[in-house]
Amino acid sequence: MDEKKVFPCKNCGGELVFSPDIKKMVCPYCNSTFEIENDKNFNPEEKEIDLLEFLEKSPDAKGYEIILYQFECKNCGAKISSPEKRRDVNCPFCGTQYVGEAKESEGLIKPAGIIPFEIARKKALSDFADWVKRGWFRPNDLKKLYKLEQIQGIYLPFFTFDAKAKSYWSALAGYYYNVEESVPVIRNGKKIYETRQVRKIRWEPVSGEREDFFNDVLVPAIFSERLTLLYNIFPYNIMVGLKPYDPNYLAGFGVFNSEMPLKEVYSIAKAQIEQEEIRRCSSDVPGDTQKDLRVKTNLTEQTFKHILAPVWSGSFKYKNKTYPFLINGQTGKVYGKKPYSFWKIFFTVAALVILAIIVLLLLSFFGGNN
Ligand SMILES: [Zn+2]
Ligand SMILES: [Zn+2]
Repeated sequence: MDEKKVFPCKNCGGELVFSPDIKKMVCPYCNSTFEIENDKNFNPEEKEIDLLEFLEKSPDAKGYEIILYQFECKNCGAKISSPEKRRDVNCPFCGTQYVGEAKESEGLIKPAGIIPFEIARKKALSDFADWVKRGWFRPNDLKKLYKLEQIQGIYLPFFTFDAKAKSYWSALAGYYYNVEESVPVIRNGKKIYETRQVRKIRWEPVSGEREDFFNDVLVPAIFSERLTLLYNIFPYNIMVGLKPYDPNYLAGFGVFNSEMPLKEVYSIAKAQIEQEEIRRCSSDVPGDTQKDLRVKTNLTEQTFKHILAPVWSGSFKYKNKTYPFLINGQTGKVYGKKPYSFWKIFFTVAALVILAIIVLLLLSFFGGNN
């Protein structure tokens, strides 16, 4: 059975929330602050779990989640249920906040750590306001007419992976060289031969190997249409920001359930690592050009850990259309969709076309006598 956490103030009984500004629990009613007791010797590297061994033991293991459940608010007695896919609950009647904590089991992986919010709501709002005004091809009235629809701080579940990659590659390396060739041309109606420099490629079979260590490859454990946005607010600084998992950090924020089993998240990470190895092997190939690159990558020393990381998720409205955006809750990096100004782009393209025509005319005028 899952349990629910509440965070009452010791002085007045009010609901404590985590404050990113002072990194403490704050009571909004009596302004008391409380430290979050942390293990001072916490070392994220020690939280790494051997991946293949773990998957063999629990092949269907998932990240932390609670299943939708109902309970009675201990403050007002109302019957409330946690929203789907999340484990934070606000009593709609009295506002009491709960965080659902799952009981540890073999199929459920407890977070090893959490990156707490560094960007408080106020800072997130001003970072967003700066961002929405930036950019060239934006409508002039965007900064006046956009309307922030919603913004909320959410912790998302991730897995991070470490691995040693050993790659063997083979390819054909191409070297450019020039040869003089006689080519037929028509001059004054007569066919004559001219010598010209022609570029050729000499192909040589090459092969090699390389070794790389991947540290903290971060992949979210959720399905979301916002994932494309999410990768754009990377990176998170895990080495510096990670704290031991403590539900106190969640007070006042939303928390998403994990939705994808570890195995599936791992296959995404593996594909990312292999893709990166192909890129690195390709840059190892000597010569001026290359083809037929083949890469075989073996991964060893694979470990993982489950963590939570913070995101401000929001949307704004402009001329009846909604645009989503995300802000990295640790670094403040903003990314989202923004409207483009049709006319600004139209006139820029038109100006470039006119410029190109003028250049062509000048070239044919001055160069035509040769
Ligand atoms: Zn208080
Ligand atoms: Zn209540």
